Amino acid sequence: MHIVFLGPPGAGKGTQADIISKKFNIKKISTGDILRSEMESETELGKIAKGYMEKGELVPDDIMIKIIQNYIRDLDRFILDGFPRTLNQALELEKIIKIDKVIYLNVPDEEIKNRLLKRGRLDDKPEVIENRIRVYREQTKPLIDYYKSKGILYEVDGIGNVEEITKRIEEILSLPHST
Ligand code: AMP
Repeated sequence: MHIVFLGPPGAGKGTQADIISKKFNIKKISTGDILRSEMESETELGKIAKGYMEKGELVPDDIMIKIIQNYIRDLDRFILDGFPRTLNQALELEKIIKIDKVIYLNVPDEEIKNRLLKRGRLDDKPEVIENRIRVYREQTKPLIDYYKSKGILYEVDGIGNVEEITKRIEEILSLPHST
């Protein structure tokens, strides 16, 4: 099963992907986590990514696609958290592998801002948050319609407690898919 978690920053993708990953023993691949770990280790990639991440901009597609190619190679089950984030990334992903289900965690803007301000990560400063939401709206949101048109988009209400939302996701994952 190849799953993508889609949604605005602060929607709870990482939290839910972690829970589902453990419960079903499916590997979770978070591009944000990968980039943060590269940054901490001060690798070449980390240094490049830092400049974009600090501003709330997206790391260029060619870099991200290379990363994802490396990580999903040889995996027959995975959850992608934070990838794809652009239409180009989605198209490139499709060339590598078939995605079965896209879980779209829907959380309104106002709620997102509050959650991110509380979280306090390095890129959770107010001005960076605004930019990340703008980048999401302009570059990532179009993926909702894209995956809808492919018939693999499943929308989940992202408001509620963690357990409730996990249950909603589990219901979707138990539905049959086309492979
Ligand atoms: P996240 O932890 O998913 O919120 O990602 C944190 C930051 O990492 C983003 O704001 C981007 O700068 C960068 N990033 C993560 N995933 C991607 C991606 N698929 N494409 C481009 N940039 C990404």
